[in-house]
Amino acid sequence: MEIGVLTSGGDSPGMNAALRAVVRSAIRKDHQVFGIRRGYRGLIEGGVSMQPLQWRDVAGILQRGGTILGSARCQEFRERSGRLQAVANMLRCNLDRLVVIGGDGSLSGAQLLHEEWEGLLAELVEKGEISTELASRHPKLGVVGLPGSIDNDLPGIDVSIGSDTALHRIVEAVDRIFSTADSHQRIFVVEVMGRRCGYLALMASLATGAEVAILPESPPGPGWEEVLCQKLTAARKAGRRASIVLLAEGARDTLQNPITVSQVKHLLEDRLHEEVRVTILGHVQRGGAPTAFDRNQSTILGAAAINALEHVGEPVLIGLHGNRAVPTPLRECLRRSLAIDEALQRGNEEQAIELRGPHFVKALQTRKTLGHILPAGASGQTYRIAVMHAGAPAPGMNMAVRASVRLLMDQGHTVLGIRRGMKGLVEGDISELKWMDVSGWSSLGGAQLGTNRKVLTGHDLYAVARHLEHFQVQGLLIIGGLAAYETAETIRTQESHYPSFSIPVICIPATIDNNLPGSDFSIGADTALNSIVEVVDKIKQSAVASRRCFVVEVMGRECGYLALTSALATGAERVYLPEEGIEIEKLIQDLRGFSAGFRQGRRVGLAIRNECANSLYTTNFIASLFEEEGKEDFDVRQAILGHLQQGGDPTPFDRTLAVRLTAQACEKLLELCNSEQFLSLGVGLQSGKTDFIDLSDLGHLLDPARGRPKKQWWLHLQGLMQQLAQQD
Ligand code: ADP
Repeated sequence: MEIGVLTSGGDSPGMNAALRAVVRSAIRKDHQVFGIRRGYRGLIEGGVSMQPLQWRDVAGILQRGGTILGSARCQEFRERSGRLQAVANMLRCNLDRLVVIGGDGSLSGAQLLHEEWEGLLAELVEKGEISTELASRHPKLGVVGLPGSIDNDLPGIDVSIGSDTALHRIVEAVDRIFSTADSHQRIFVVEVMGRRCGYLALMASLATGAEVAILPESPPGPGWEEVLCQKLTAARKAGRRASIVLLAEGARDTLQNPITVSQVKHLLEDRLHEEVRVTILGHVQRGGAPTAFDRNQSTILGAAAINALEHVGEPVLIGLHGNRAVPTPLRECLRRSLAIDEALQRGNEEQAIELRGPHFVKALQTRKTLGHILPAGASGQTYRIAVMHAGAPAPGMNMAVRASVRLLMDQGHTVLGIRRGMKGLVEGDISELKWMDVSGWSSLGGAQLGTNRKVLTGHDLYAVARHLEHFQVQGLLIIGGLAAYETAETIRTQESHYPSFSIPVICIPATIDNNLPGSDFSIGADTALNSIVEVVDKIKQSAVASRRCFVVEVMGRECGYLALTSALATGAERVYLPEEGIEIEKLIQDLRGFSAGFRQGRRVGLAIRNECANSLYTTNFIASLFEEEGKEDFDVRQAILGHLQQGGDPTPFDRTLAVRLTAQACEKLLELCNSEQFLSLGVGLQSGKTDFIDLSDLGHLLDPARGRPKKQWWLHLQGLMQQLAQQD
C-alpha cells in the first residue's frame, strides 16, 4: 500500500510519536509511507511537500513535542477546487490511503475527501488530468483519523493525543502559582485552553484543588458575580490564604455571555478589594516533550492505524477505549461532536455533558463537592470512617486522603486518620481529620499520614481490634499496595474472633509498581513512569556523540509494567521483564544486535531492566557482559534509577485517578455501611471503568509467589515495542 500521513490543525504533543509508529509499522509490512508537510496545504501543493519517509527519518522524534511534518490550517482545502488539486497530487504518488492526525476540523476534512473521492476522480478524468485506468486503480480512499487535540474535545474516546501533556503543563503552572499566591495572600485567575470543551479546566481543577472552575459545560447563572465573591470570601474566612479561579477559554454564563479573565479580575478587585493576578497559559500548554502516556497512546494508535487501513471501508477514528485501540466510524464521532456544539449553543448543557460521556459527568459531580469551601453537612445516617496507608509511599496517596476526607465530611461523616500505616493501627495512633487538615495536599508527593511496609501478624490483631472499638470505627479505607490488600483480607477472615472487625473495608490501589489485582492502573505508577522517562531522555541525550549503550534498571518488584511502558516511551531496543526472566542466549543475541546496529552507524542504544528480572543476571552483569564482548563496537554505561521513582509531585493522571477511585470507594463504603455488609473490596479502573473486586477472590487473581496479578493487560505491548524500536 501507499499511505499518506499528515498532521493538521493545532499541533499536539505526541503527534511525532504517532507518526513514528505509523511509518515504522507500515515499513514492517512493506508499505510505503509519504509524509505530507503542513497538513492539507501539503496535499494541495504536492511535489516536495509529499515525500516518502524511511525508517531513520522518524528516529529520535518520540520525545519531541510539536510535529516534524509541520501543521497548518488551510482555507483552500475547504473548497472543492482545493480538494480536487489534492486528489490529483495524491494520485501522482499512487496514494489512496490517508492517516490524518488532528482535531475535529481536520477529521471533518478527511471525511469529506472520502465522500467526494469518486466524484473528484471523475472530474479529473473528465478534465483529462488523469487516465481512466489510473482512476480505476484507486476506486476508494481509505481514511483513518487519529485524535490529535490537546482539548480532548472529541467524544467517544477516552482521551486525545496531547491532552495528558497539556494537563501536565497546566498543573505544573497552577502548582507554582499556588505557592506564590499562598505567600502573598492573593487570588489568581488562570485561563486554560478549551474553547468548546472544559475537559482541561475540569481535570486541572480536580488535580490542583482550585476553588473555582468555570467551563463551557457548566456556565454559572445570572448573579454569578455575587456567588463567586461570596465563595472566595468564605474561602479566606475558612483559612485559605490563596485562591485560584480556573477559566476555560470558552467560559461563559447561561445567557451565552463570555466570561473573560480580565472581567473576573476587575470584578474581584472592585468587590473584594484584594490583589488579583491573571495568568493566561496560552501556548505553553501545547509545548514541550510529550508525557509517557501521550507517547505510548500515540504509538499504540499509530500502529493500529496501519492495521485498520488494510480494509478500506468507511473512515474510522481510532482512539483508546480502556487501554485498547478501538476504531469507531468517523462520521459518528463527528456527528456527536457537532451535537455537543449545538447543545452548548442552545444552552442545553445537560445534553452536552451527557454526550461527553459518563466519566465527564462523574468528574463534574465530584468536582462540585471538592470545590465546597466547607462541608455541606449531614443529610442522613452518619458513620465514623478511618483512612490509612499500607506499603511503600506512592505519589497521589495524599490526594486520595484529601478526597476521602472532603467527600465523606461533606455528607456529615467523621473521618479518622490512622498515622504511620500498620504501626499506627497497632499502636492506636489515630485522630480525627478535619476539612482544612488536608488543605494543600493535592500536589504533595509522599504520604502525609505516614506509611510503612509492615503487615499485620497474629500478635497484632488484639491491639488492632481494641483500637477499632475504642475509636468506634465503622468502615475502613486502606490506600496502598499489596500490604493493604492482605490487611483487608485478614480483617475479614478474623471477623468471627474480633467483633470490631465487623466493618466494611475498601482498598484503594496505590503503588508505583502497578502490581495490584482489579485495577489496570494503581495510583503512583504514572508519576514513576514519567520520572523514569524524563531521566532516560537525559541519559540518551548525553550519548549523542558517542557509540554508547545504556543499561537502565527500574523498579517494579516482580511486575514489569514500569520497565515495559518506559521502554515503549523512550524507544528502548531491549527490555528485561520478570514475567519472562532472562536467558543467556537472549543476552548474547541482544549483544550481537547492538553490535550490528552500532556498526551500521547507530550512536546510542538502550536496554531497560526490571530490578527483579533475574536474580543472577543483574544490571551490573549485563553491563559487564556487553562492555567486554561488545568493546570493538560500543561502550556501555549502567544507571540504576533507585528511589527517585518513588518521589516527586504526583502527575495529573495520578491525582485524578486518586480522586476518581476514592470517590467510588467512598460511595461504596457508605452503601456497605448502610446495608451492614462487612465485605473487603478493592476498587480499581478496569478497561476504562471503575469497578470492584471482592478480596475473598484475591487467591484467584494474584500470583502469590510473585506478588502480581495473574493477568496483566499491558504485556501485549512488548511486541509493539520491539517492532518499532529495532534498527532505531
Ligand atoms: P482542528 O483539526 O485542530 O480542529 P481546524 O478546525 O482549524 O483544526 O481544521 C484544520 C484544517 O482542516 C482546516 O484548515 C482545513 O484545511 C481542514 N478542515 C477543517 N474543517 C473542514 C471542513 N469542514 N471541510 C474541509 N476541510 C476542513
